[in-house]
Amino acid sequence: KDFRNDVKPNWCPGCGDFSVQAAIQRAAANLGLEPHELAVISGIGCSGRISGYIHSYGFHGTHGRVLPLAQGVKMANRDLTVIAAGGDGDGFAIGMGHTVHAIRRNIDITYIVMDNQIYGLTKGQTSPRSAAGFQTKSTPHGSIEPALSPLEIALSAGATFVAQGFSSDLKELTSLIEEGVKHKGFAFINVFSPCVTYNKVNTYEWFKERLVKVSDIEGYDPANREMAMQTVMKYDGLVTGVIYQNEEQKSYQELVPGYSAAPLAEADLKLDKEQFEQLVSEFM
Ligand code: SF4
Repeated sequence: KDFRNDVKPNWCPGCGDFSVQAAIQRAAANLGLEPHELAVISGIGCSGRISGYIHSYGFHGTHGRVLPLAQGVKMANRDLTVIAAGGDGDGFAIGMGHTVHAIRRNIDITYIVMDNQIYGLTKGQTSPRSAAGFQTKSTPHGSIEPALSPLEIALSAGATFVAQGFSSDLKELTSLIEEGVKHKGFAFINVFSPCVTYNKVNTYEWFKERLVKVSDIEGYDPANREMAMQTVMKYDGLVTGVIYQNEEQKSYQELVPGYSAAPLAEADLKLDKEQFEQLVSEFM
């Protein structure tokens, strides 16, 4: 299956988002999906362009609202594999309310955050993921606020799947996305995706010197939530792999009474013309 299309990405050469695009395309192919079985929903930011660069259904939504859209798509048509994607500004600033509640709601979708610790599209301002002391146009004397920790927040919010990848490790990233899609529930995947143009601190080299794979930690058990939280805190969030997975927790869909009926997208609404027009008028 080929998930490439004819649209040439206009990301800067070397941007980490290229790898995320490739990893989604490879994961979808490895999972045996057809393009019409995949929907990629994205937010606003450089990363938000990704839905236009993959041969599948796609929707480029509004800033911070990728998760309401993606959850709606999945609830309307459960037969689609839904991947939501956006940046750290999109998901952890304006969209943070949605992120936390989508995590605890546990609808069966995969959410990939392209975390470059800066706002790239607007030419380099401090984001919620920028470290204290980080200097940008918006914080010329260095950021006073500490960076938030997405993995700790996801674990605290009751996530059933938490993973972290790095754009420089396409093999691991592809595997994480495959695992996330296969997970029956909400899969949260944070990806260190360097912004080579505006973030001169958190570079590929910076990450290569620091990142630790949880699979290399002796005795690491991704089913152990307490161990996951302690490990994330010990390594200051600089770990990759499947950090935590709870395979016992039922997804939102499995808990909704009556959801075993036909997908909403295929439901016979049995509306006559008058009822249909009435329904439409309510949305005008
Ligand atoms: Fe990527 Fe940064 Fe360029 Fe945006 S500005 S495309 S995040 S390298």
